[in-house]
Amino acid sequence: MRITSENGKLNVPADPEIVYIEGDGVGKEITERMIETLDAAVRTAYSGERRIEWKKALAGSEAIEKTGTNLPDETIEAIKESLIAIKGPLMTPVGKGARSINVALRQTLDLYACVRPIEYFEGVPSPVRHPENVDMVVFRENTEDIYAGIEWDKDSEEVRKVISFLQNEMGVKKIRFPETSAIGVKPVSEEGSVRLIKAAIDYAIANRRRSVTLVHKGNIMKFTEGGFRRWGYETAKKDYGAYEKDGKVFIPASRGDIEIKDCICDAFLQNILLKPEAYDVIATLNLNGDYVSDALAAEVGGIGIAPGANINYRTGAAVFEATHGTAPDIAGKDIVNPLSIILSGVMMLEYIGWNEAAALIRNAVSSMISSGSVTKDLYDLMIREGRSGKCLSTSAFTSELINKL
Ligand code: NAD
Repeated sequence: MRITSENGKLNVPADPEIVYIEGDGVGKEITERMIETLDAAVRTAYSGERRIEWKKALAGSEAIEKTGTNLPDETIEAIKESLIAIKGPLMTPVGKGARSINVALRQTLDLYACVRPIEYFEGVPSPVRHPENVDMVVFRENTEDIYAGIEWDKDSEEVRKVISFLQNEMGVKKIRFPETSAIGVKPVSEEGSVRLIKAAIDYAIANRRRSVTLVHKGNIMKFTEGGFRRWGYETAKKDYGAYEKDGKVFIPASRGDIEIKDCICDAFLQNILLKPEAYDVIATLNLNGDYVSDALAAEVGGIGIAPGANINYRTGAAVFEATHGTAPDIAGKDIVNPLSIILSGVMMLEYIGWNEAAALIRNAVSSMISSGSVTKDLYDLMIREGRSGKCLSTSAFTSELINKL
């Protein structure tokens, strides 16, 4: 049956329909393993009384082959109806050509929060000395900023019009090389910023976190990124009753007051290496969020295991996804690490309130990694660190993981 939502609050039946998109490259391998793992965890946690009704939807190369378009309308419709989907990676051509399907999905469904939990599993090889101090959840604004896709190419008729408007109507004198410039536009609204910041604060309250940090470049981009910072503090005050104490800002919460602070993005990127324990929930703009999420993911084991989701907390619609790409160099070899999409599946179970099944998988993953049973990407890093381990194929890793549930 379908999940429904009232003002963002989900009603989840015992057999919710969930859409899945396999994705390109390694997509099929990891998506199948994720479905096996989630099915086994749900069966075990609820003694067969609950089960996910998986519904396949097409996107990427398989969609082009079967329908002639990379993101068919039926796929968007299916996600709108089911509310929740999970997807493998999709190929995005660089430069000219088709638009990113990921961006199209986020914009069409207005999935305004990109949520990336950054959590360390004991035993994962890491480039930092104390990865166990990294424990953050990044809320990245997903629909605005320089990422909105409003840009014009050098030499185009449009770019000439825009430059002429800026110079002649707006008195802009700062375009250094007007004859050869491409131009991009950076829209950042109060409405878009506030709904993202509220999602981060609500998450912090619901999950008993310590602080929310607004990460921005407001020192340089005063109205856009500076606006994000200002609207963040204003929202904390207006909607959450923020108060000041010893020069710090807090919002009252029943299980311990939460600090609201801010940090300039370049300093933040240094601080997450030098003192990651200072940060907890992060709210940031689209481009900063892209860099910050990947830098943080690298600190706790990188690309193969970082989960993510794109969520509209108002409609309830959410697309969970593997955060890595299609990994064409290892596709079809049964060596890809399936944990990014499996842990995204864990986020999805938590999102629909099936915490018992989520915990079973999380514990099994911890146990696998701490015993050194990993896929080739992590195994190679372990060997480089002089540690021993067991290198498993994708399918063998998933079978052992399921046995541990
Ligand atoms: P990539 O993430 O596919 O691969 C980078 C490197 O990491 C490769 O060596 C790959 O083998 C390795 N890797 C990635 N995931 C792994 C995993 N789970 N286990 C083991 N090794 C893993 O990045 P790329 O090569 O820059 O991009 C390839 C394609 O993927 C591009 O078309 C890009 O646009 C697309 N992409 C899609 C998404 C998405 O759909 N969310 C995200 C990023 C990139």
